[in-house]
Amino acid sequence: MQQQNSVYKRVLLKLSGEALSGAAGTGLDFKIMAQVCGVIAKCVSLGVEVGIVVGGGNFWRGVKNGEGRMDRARADYMGMLATIMNCLALQDVLQQQGVEAKVLTAMEIGHVGELFSVDKADEYLRAGKVIICGGGVGSPYFTTDTGAVLRAALIGAEAILLAKNVDGVYSADPRKDPDAVKFDTITYQEVLDRNLAVMDSTATCLAMDNHIPVYVFALNDPENILRALRGENVGTLVK
Ligand code: UDP
Repeated sequence: MQQQNSVYKRVLLKLSGEALSGAAGTGLDFKIMAQVCGVIAKCVSLGVEVGIVVGGGNFWRGVKNGEGRMDRARADYMGMLATIMNCLALQDVLQQQGVEAKVLTAMEIGHVGELFSVDKADEYLRAGKVIICGGGVGSPYFTTDTGAVLRAALIGAEAILLAKNVDGVYSADPRKDPDAVKFDTITYQEVLDRNLAVMDSTATCLAMDNHIPVYVFALNDPENILRALRGENVGTLVK
């Protein structure tokens, strides 16, 4: 199927774990997931090739939940496993909506998903299947934001769609500072210099070095994913 009104042919959508948990903040909210997957199905029907990287913070974050009481690396591996649980949930909900989806993981976890490779990812994407990438970069001390940028680079995604709980990048935290202003566009370097809470600095540097634009917008209305694909101004473009 030909792409109709998307400005991108291949994108990487980053969903945080919390985005799947709704108001509860933990676990999985299947109503929200159905809405998000419904929009992903529309993206696929437009002919857009969609890779997803999902976080794990709705179940476990290495530093927040484990460090101090557990070895950091082991706690981080638990976080990576949490992302893979989210992959399976997303795969299921996408399939319920008639979208073929493949789970590709950063580490071997047979029966659950296939080990990520560029060739496999490319083959599935060209066939109109959604790929859901789990396990971040496969190493402790990293985040799934960095995983998202890495996967985007590897699959040649034209943009990263960073769906968050805020509607863009602000000069300060809009919940704390009434004078905070939202940027329509901003450079990676400015994000780094101002220490803005978009992605961690490792992820921002990787996106900058590889010239991958990052579009930040709110997932509270999942249709924003489609608006972002159409190039509508619903958030902040980091480039
Ligand atoms: N994690 C890791 N390496 C990676 C990706 C993730 O060690 O490449 C671990 C880390 O402990 C992290 C957790 O997995 O806290 C969940 O990932 P993240 O915090 O990025 O999830 P999100 O905030 O997007 O839900």
